[in-house]
Amino acid sequence: MTFPLRLPVLLSLAFLAMDSRAAERKPLDVQYETAARRIIGLGPSDNVAFERLAEMCDTFGSRFSGSQNLEKAIDWCLAKLVEDGFENVRGEPVTVPRWVRGNETARVISPRPCELHLLGLGGSVGTPKGGIRARALVVTSFEELREKAADAKGRIIVFNAPFVDYGSTVVFRVKGAIEAAKVGAVASLIRSVAPFSMQTPHTGMMDYDSAVPKIPHAAISIEDAEMLQRFQERGDAIEIELKMEAQTLPDGQSRNVVAELVGTEYPEQIVLLSGHIDSWDVGTGAMDDGGGCFASWQAVRILKQLNLRPRRTIRVVFWTNEENGMAGVKTYREKHAADLNNHLIAMESDSGTFAPEGFSFDGSEKAMALFEEFAALLKPLGADRLKWGAEVSDVSQLASKGVPVMGLDVDRTKYFWYHHTDADTIDKLDIDEFNRCAAAMAIMAYVVADMPERLPR
Ligand SMILES: [Zn+2]
Repeated sequence: MTFPLRLPVLLSLAFLAMDSRAAERKPLDVQYETAARRIIGLGPSDNVAFERLAEMCDTFGSRFSGSQNLEKAIDWCLAKLVEDGFENVRGEPVTVPRWVRGNETARVISPRPCELHLLGLGGSVGTPKGGIRARALVVTSFEELREKAADAKGRIIVFNAPFVDYGSTVVFRVKGAIEAAKVGAVASLIRSVAPFSMQTPHTGMMDYDSAVPKIPHAAISIEDAEMLQRFQERGDAIEIELKMEAQTLPDGQSRNVVAELVGTEYPEQIVLLSGHIDSWDVGTGAMDDGGGCFASWQAVRILKQLNLRPRRTIRVVFWTNEENGMAGVKTYREKHAADLNNHLIAMESDSGTFAPEGFSFDGSEKAMALFEEFAALLKPLGADRLKWGAEVSDVSQLASKGVPVMGLDVDRTKYFWYHHTDADTIDKLDIDEFNRCAAAMAIMAYVVADMPERLPR
C-alpha cells in the first residue's frame, strides 16, 4: 500500500539527504540493541570459560611471579587461546621479581603456648635462623605506637587495627614495618586486612624505607590479633617466637599473555580488555585474578561465536606480576609506547568476579557521554551503572600515559573475605555472576570497538 507524499515529508526527506551523516547517526543503544541482545542470550549458556578457570586453578595451583606454576599456567592459556582461534596469540617477555616465603611460624610462648595463624608479607626479610623471640606490644594505630614508643624498643609490634575499608586499613600492611622499625622494634605483625575471618591470614605487598632497618613483617588472623589484644588488656606479658625463611632471589622471567580479535576497518586501534594472571603464593588465585582474565577471555569468545567482529581490534591481555611489582604492565607500557595513542581504552577486571554492577571510568566527558548513550543495554545484566574514578590496578599505569581506563565494578561485599588467602579458590565464584561479568565486558568492548566514532580522549 502506498501513500501520497505530502510536502512536509518531502522537505524532511530533502533535509535528510543533505545531511546523511546526521541521519545515519542513530543513538548507540539503538545501533547495538540487537548485538547486545545476542550477547546476553549466549552468555549464560556457555560455561567453557568458567570450567577452564576451575581446571587451571586445580591443575597449576597458585601462580606467583617467578614460579614454575605461573609459567605452566601461561603456556596452557596460550595453547587454549590458539585453540579458540584468537589472532596474534603471544607471550610477551617480562622480567619479574622473585620473593620466596619458605617456612614460617609464629608461636606464643606466654601467657599460653599456641601457634598463631601467620602469613609473611610479600617482600619481607626473614628472621635469623633461630628466629626472633621477644615481648609483644599491641597497638591499634600508628598514633598509639608513637605514644608508646618508649616501650617499643626490642619488641615485636602487633598492629591490631580494625578494618575500615581496604584503602585506609592497608596502610598497616604497607607501612607497618617502617613505623615499627622507627621505634626500635625487632619485628612487626599486622591484623590481616579483612572485614571477616575464619582464622585466615591475608598476605600482600609491603614497603621498606632505607632510612630504618628492615625488620620481618607478617600478617596474623583477626582472631589471633584480637586474642593478643585481650592478653595485653588483662596485663599478661606476651612473649612470641617468630621464624621466617623469606628471601628475595635474583629476578626471574615471565610473560604477559596477549591475544586479539583483529578489527575489520581500523585494526591498529586497540580496545584492551584485561586481568592479571599472576596470584599470591597462597590459594589458587581464582578470584584474584583468574576470574578477571577468564571473564575478559570469555567476552571475546562470545563475540567470536556470534560472528561479531568489530571495526577496531579487541586485545585481551593477562598481565603478569600485578601482585608484587606490576612489572607486566610497566614492560608493556615501554614496549608499546609508540602505540599508546591508538589504545582507545584499557579495561580491567580485578575486583573479583561477583555480580557485575557497572563500570568506573577515567577519561573525557565526551567519552562518558557515549557510554551513557548505550548503558541501558547493560541493564539486563545489572551492569548499567557508570561512575567516575576508575577502580583499577594494572591499567592505571597506562592512564598515566593518557590512555582512558575503565574498571568492571562488581558487588565486592565478600571480596576481602578471601583476598590474598588460602581461601581464594574457585568454589567462592558463582558461574552465573561470572558469565554476567563476561557478557557486560563483551557489550562494552564491542560497542567501543565498533561504533562509528573513535572514542574521544
Ligand atoms: Zn588482583
